[in-house]
Amino acid sequence: MKTVLITGGSRGIGQACVLAFARAGWQVAFSYHTQAEQAGQLVERVRQQGGAAACWQADVADSSQVDRLFARAEEAFDPIDALVCNAGIAHQGLLTDMTDAQWRRLMGVDLDGAFYCCRRALPAMVRRHQGSVVLISSMWGVTGGSCEAAYSAAKAGLIGLAKALAKEMGPSGIRVNCIAPGVIDTEMNGGLTEEDLAALREETPLGRQGAPEEVAEAALFLCGEGARFITGQVLGVDGGIAV
Ligand code: NDP
Repeated sequence: MKTVLITGGSRGIGQACVLAFARAGWQVAFSYHTQAEQAGQLVERVRQQGGAAACWQADVADSSQVDRLFARAEEAFDPIDALVCNAGIAHQGLLTDMTDAQWRRLMGVDLDGAFYCCRRALPAMVRRHQGSVVLISSMWGVTGGSCEAAYSAAKAGLIGLAKALAKEMGPSGIRVNCIAPGVIDTEMNGGLTEEDLAALREETPLGRQGAPEEVAEAALFLCGEGARFITGQVLGVDGGIAV
């Protein structure tokens, strides 16, 4: 049985990934940050469906917490075959109003977090000459989003990281890809007004928001055998908005 480690599995896209991988027969190790109860209920749900899952608390912006997360996951499910770096936060506002602390926090969670996870996951994958990494970027990392400059910069950083690692790790049999979701119906977009959402739907050729499950299916595909010759790619799951 293969094992995946998913960061930020307690809600939204991460939760959909936990369920999709478990349903496909993977053992799922995942992290949460603040939502311990929700994460625990998700573990129960997976187990009731006959799957295997376990979760641990970790702030991905702290490398020591990431190292501890991996140590626990390896103790439970060693070896880890796939990594999905999903944990993320957003920040809306003018760049000129952003404080040092807000910028650092966003970079810490969205970009440093992926670095810490990849640094910790890759050596064991190299030893086994196999593995797959998926970084959850964003359409804003591809196109840039007004009033989301820091978020766009961090998400573009993930694309650079994936492309570079695809080259660095390909000879070791490891694939690294990004997913760039469009507007997905999760709590992250809870701050948007109905008017904002309607405008985004209008801009989306497929005319609607995406579901977290639609991103999860792409992550599952990229980690699976069907994607064995795919690396260094940015897969848009965005209803065509960033085309
Ligand atoms: P949610 O806000 O619904 O969930 C965020 C998840 O990340 C939660 O599980 C949360 O944990 C976890 N998390 C937040 N901060 C930290 C941290 N410091 N350390 C560890 N985990 C943390 O977001 P989405 O599901 O919408 O987003 C998931 C990913 O997809 C993010 O990277 C986001 O940028 C990206 N994305 C989302 C889009 C959208 O439209 N929704 C579009 C494009 C990209 P907890 O609940 O325990 O606090």
